[in-house]
Amino acid sequence: MGKALIIGAGGVAGVVVHKCCQNSEVFEEICIASRTVAKCDALKAKLDGGKTRITTAQVDASDVPELIALIKKVRPDIVINVALPYQDLTIMDACLATKVDYVDTANYEPEDTAKFEYKWQWAYRDRFKEAGITALLGSGFDPGVTGVFAAYAQKHYFDEIHSIDILDANAGDHGYPFATNFNPEINIREVTANGSYFENGKFIETEPLSIKRVYDFPQIGEKDIYLLHHEEMESLALNIKEIKKIRFWMTFGQSYLTHLKVLENVGMTSIEPIEFEGKQIVPLQFLKAVLPDPASLGPRTKGKTNIGCIFQGIKDGKPRTYYVYNVCDHQECYKEVGSQAISYTTGVPAMIGASMVMTGKWKRPGVFNIEEFDPDPFMDALNKFGLPWHENFTPALID
Ligand code: NDP
Repeated sequence: MGKALIIGAGGVAGVVVHKCCQNSEVFEEICIASRTVAKCDALKAKLDGGKTRITTAQVDASDVPELIALIKKVRPDIVINVALPYQDLTIMDACLATKVDYVDTANYEPEDTAKFEYKWQWAYRDRFKEAGITALLGSGFDPGVTGVFAAYAQKHYFDEIHSIDILDANAGDHGYPFATNFNPEINIREVTANGSYFENGKFIETEPLSIKRVYDFPQIGEKDIYLLHHEEMESLALNIKEIKKIRFWMTFGQSYLTHLKVLENVGMTSIEPIEFEGKQIVPLQFLKAVLPDPASLGPRTKGKTNIGCIFQGIKDGKPRTYYVYNVCDHQECYKEVGSQAISYTTGVPAMIGASMVMTGKWKRPGVFNIEEFDPDPFMDALNKFGLPWHENFTPALID
């Protein structure tokens, strides 16, 4: 069918490349381009020789002219951005200049402020519409599958959804006292930021990690969950009609939280540059350099993730509750694609989102969040490509 340009060669990109190769009818050709071309070449070496033709390239994704030159050379049908959120806008600019569709998994963040908002990317709506190209924002798991779950619940089970609790549990154990499952800089910025939830038309801010509950997750068991701000709440608050309340919860173990508190207290999680031996360094970037590379956690991580959403609302005048979730096993992911479940649960939906646009199922000019499209073909593809989902109409609720 066509060709994708994949930008980034980290944990998530590794899964995207594997999954594109498993879906060679759609992805006849892929080009893997990133800052460190050796990582692209290593991925190519692993997967070359199958039906999908693979090429590689070096690119600085913060440089628009460089990106435009690469896109003109590769001539892809779509760009899959699995680099870092800092590069979202430059990659969108290059897609606009070359009239190529765009998919990412995380909203743009300015490098110097931890801000999780869609406003910068939503500002491209008219330009993408005029250019006749599609931008699909947030096609990972959360954001991503959580938005597809919301669209599915709205389409099939509810007349009105009143509340959504998004539950992200990771019961994986990598054996290190402290490590992060995806890019440490992005992960720590997210966790140390203020929490927030949506209620009655507005967002209410909370102190970081100040609201805690316990939830008994299917296939995982009881875990402490903490309320966080998470970007999909912003778009779901607009796109789910009659919504009154949205909360996002993530599990953290005590060891992770204790380490994080100490690192925060000594200033290691700061994104303010400091002078060190005559050089400006950002403490959080230095911390990233000394922490284990998330890609190296694959062989060590045992246990499962469970990510899903609990919806409450009404159908035919009666109250209804619906829980839909996926359980993913770290070791199974490692066996299949050589990475742990966090990269897997992000990379599979990134490939599926790109295939939705490439096959025309989700091709519409403009900039869209994932819940704005028909969820059914995406839900089918989740079952087909390794992220099967389960339903429960009488789940335990969170107070
Ligand atoms: P990694 O840090 O493992 O990989 C990022 C890749 O981007 C690296 O290969 C890096 O290159 C490359 N890169 C960084 N800067 C540039 C640049 N200027 N030019 C070109 N390439 C660059 O991150 P992950 O794979 O874990 O995450 C990828 C994305 O997925 C992130 O945006 C993250 O926020 C998102 N994510 C989304 C989730 C979801 O559920 N929606 C969950 C988890 C992650 P180099 O190798 O040289 O460092």
